[in-house]
Amino acid sequence: MKIGIVADLNDMNLDVWLSTYALQEALKEMEHISVVIHHSFINSEDGEKLGPKELAYEFYNVVEGSSQLSNDAGYYNLFDIYLVASERMWQKVKDNTIKEYYPIHYLRDSILLMQQKNYHPLAKKKSINEDYLLCYYETPSKEKLEFLKFLLDKKSLKLVSNQMGNNELKSLQSYTDQDIREFLLYLRHAKVVITDSGFIASMALLYEKPFLLLSEKTQEVLAAGILKELGLSSLILSDLSTSRDISIYNSLLETYENNQREFRKRIKDFRKEQKKKLSQLIRLASYEMYVDCPTDIKKIECCGCTACREVCPYNAIEMKPDEEGFIYPVVDHDKCVKCMLCKKVCVKRENPQTITYEKRENQQTNNNVKKENPQTDTSVRKESSQTNTSARKESSQTNTSVRKENSQTNTYAKKENFQTFTNEKKENPQTITYAKKENSQAISHAESYPIVYAVNNKKLKVRTNSSSGGIFPELVQYVIEELEGYVVGVKFDNDMNAVSSIAHTMEEAKEFYGAKYTKSDFTGMFRNVKKLLDKGETVLYSALPCEAAGLRAFLRKRYDNLIVSEVLCHAGPSPLVFRRYVQYLESRFHSKVKKINFRDKSKGWLALDNTMVVEFANREPLKLRARRNNYYRSFIKDNIARPACSQCSFVYTNRVGDLTMGDFWGIQYAKPEMFDNKGTSILMINTKNGENIWNKISNRFEYEESNLTEAFRYNHKKPIKLTEKRNEFFDRFEKEEINSLLQEFNDLK
Ligand SMILES: Cc1cc2nc3c(=O)[nH]c(=O)nc-3n(C[C@H](O)[C@H](O)[C@H](O)COP(=O)(O)OP(=O)(O)OC[C@H]3O[C@@H](n4cnc5c(N)ncnc54)[C@H](O)[C@@H]3O)c2cc1C
Ligand code: SF4
Ligand code: SF4
Ligand code: SF4
Repeated sequence: MKIGIVADLNDMNLDVWLSTYALQEALKEMEHISVVIHHSFINSEDGEKLGPKELAYEFYNVVEGSSQLSNDAGYYNLFDIYLVASERMWQKVKDNTIKEYYPIHYLRDSILLMQQKNYHPLAKKKSINEDYLLCYYETPSKEKLEFLKFLLDKKSLKLVSNQMGNNELKSLQSYTDQDIREFLLYLRHAKVVITDSGFIASMALLYEKPFLLLSEKTQEVLAAGILKELGLSSLILSDLSTSRDISIYNSLLETYENNQREFRKRIKDFRKEQKKKLSQLIRLASYEMYVDCPTDIKKIECCGCTACREVCPYNAIEMKPDEEGFIYPVVDHDKCVKCMLCKKVCVKRENPQTITYEKRENQQTNNNVKKENPQTDTSVRKESSQTNTSARKESSQTNTSVRKENSQTNTYAKKENFQTFTNEKKENPQTITYAKKENSQAISHAESYPIVYAVNNKKLKVRTNSSSGGIFPELVQYVIEELEGYVVGVKFDNDMNAVSSIAHTMEEAKEFYGAKYTKSDFTGMFRNVKKLLDKGETVLYSALPCEAAGLRAFLRKRYDNLIVSEVLCHAGPSPLVFRRYVQYLESRFHSKVKKINFRDKSKGWLALDNTMVVEFANREPLKLRARRNNYYRSFIKDNIARPACSQCSFVYTNRVGDLTMGDFWGIQYAKPEMFDNKGTSILMINTKNGENIWNKISNRFEYEESNLTEAFRYNHKKPIKLTEKRNEFFDRFEKEEINSLLQEFNDLK
């Protein structure tokens, strides 16, 4: 990542120079190379002042910038992120920059990023034997000078000061603003510091010097905010006229000395937070970088669908994992002939592959059924008969009623609400056990897709072995046994990698049952699927929505013999995090992990009851409360999600599959007669193809018609947010032990 720190080095301003230095050093510590862009904001007509360039080259990796950020976009486009270290610079940059060219960020109080000892190498080497007061006045008013004089007399201290143009004060030594080295030397050995500059006060804090910050109007002092934030407001002296009592001065300094340990701790904590912020800035900036591929999209947009790789006629694209473990395309420029086919198919450009909902053809039949079906409800019909446009509207929240529900942002927080419900049920024997309706089937009378159902597999065993209501196994059986087709799904290989695979027998397909909560490896699968389709074989392709979109984009035409089944998906977790977690389990329990069932329902399907079972090669299985497990919890809380999940194109009614399946969270409220805590699925039928296959297997299920509002009340309707926690997790991921790290981010540990 190319990082530029923008600084105007023409003026020898302590704040700009030292903050820039601190920022560059902090980045070095974080193993980032940065370059200081020495930039002048002085118009060339005014003539540029010559700065102390030699010193600049000694201090930083420095490049000469153009004279105006505002009219030289090309030069600055060389960097991926631009940082500014001081408030003073930020003010200049804000007014002088073309924002769209420069992703510029300001990290306030950068000076505190480094410790005192980091500045020592810059200081002039000289021994000082006398005690002195160091004074730095930016605006030396008469009042401030008088106050200084009063102090010097009372305390019998010598003075070292910056040049203030006042000869009344006899300085032991004076230094110029032009000499940072001297300033650092005098600061290091000073007895006490008096200043009207917030920045110098911060430096005094860093050097653990008793200090007073004089300010007639506290709020005007730059960085006075930090003193308040650190709980040091008492060291800001705002009324100089009442400060002629030396005991006030003494007690202020005593406050400082008595609490020095505490202040040290606060600064340390503040520094830690600042470093975290810096790290997050860099991480977020890295997501804004373009993938190294002609698809011309940003990392944060790339869902890793592999369509670009698979479609490239010259095999010029490889999918490579980054340090978070997510794959991105990387082009071999020698092989690429710039045909731009990859760009054409990229699901993040104009090709999301989402379905345009059509009108259903077989309305007559359904209308008949409707008459016979007293459970039907007109409001439901209205809802599920949305045309594509209205459905889209809903997803973009223009519809007020939906918007209200959308305000429940965290799906999983909601889920936990109804865990309480289960508990109550368990502890309260008087509660009603809902009787199953004998004939709950409700053939949809929706006029157009999607049709929404709540579904339970009639075979309890199948349902118990599935994550949700057990739709998938019946689909598989129908495709393999009756259509003699193929099923593509995700299984764990012998090393517990989640991999996409093709099954042609029920035995093979059984390995797909159960959700594997990690992104899978499906490299090369699209080409294999195409071969089967071209041969006229029926293929049931089951995947996450973005992956299914990738397949459709790669195929570039509709096949009648392809059935796409997607699961609702809020976040795709990093395969590298999963790998490291499995390694942790293996080393902790001294046995190879053979299988993980994230959704064992022996104690129930609701999140509070759900069990995670880890099977080992030579020890008994480990049974954990899934909700509290460090890995599972991180998945649920979106802490290990792919960045692109925050811009997922496949939420709510934006579907790719002929069929969409998920958990029908909240079924106990919506359709209590269907709830038995063994798992119920949402089924969305999105196309005629999907409806045809559903009609073939529907007699294997108990199901009731639902609607989008009901089905998504407790499921996500919007993409996740990349939280600070998530970004911090990945900042620390490479360096720290995985289970302890996951545990630290587990709010239910
Ligand atoms: C990463 C992920 C996130 C999910 N997020 C949600 C959510 O937010 N809300 C919700 O309601 N449901 C979500 N689900 C879906 C849910 O967990 C169930 O998988 C789904 O309800 C189907 O259940 P089932 O019992 O019918 O079938 P299952 O037996 O669970 O099998 C479903 C199918 O999913 C496929 N599959 C399993 N793991 C993966 C994987 N890692 N990548 C691609 N395909 C896979 C299998 O091949 C199988 O074909 C998610 C699933 C995954 C894998
Ligand atoms: S532009 Fe063409 S040749 Fe180059 S990577 Fe894309 S598909 Fe392959
Ligand atoms: S979104 Fe898919 S097609 Fe687009 S760059 Fe990423 S992997 Fe390639
Ligand atoms: S949330 Fe969207 S982008 Fe992320 S893995 Fe799931 S379908 Fe793909």
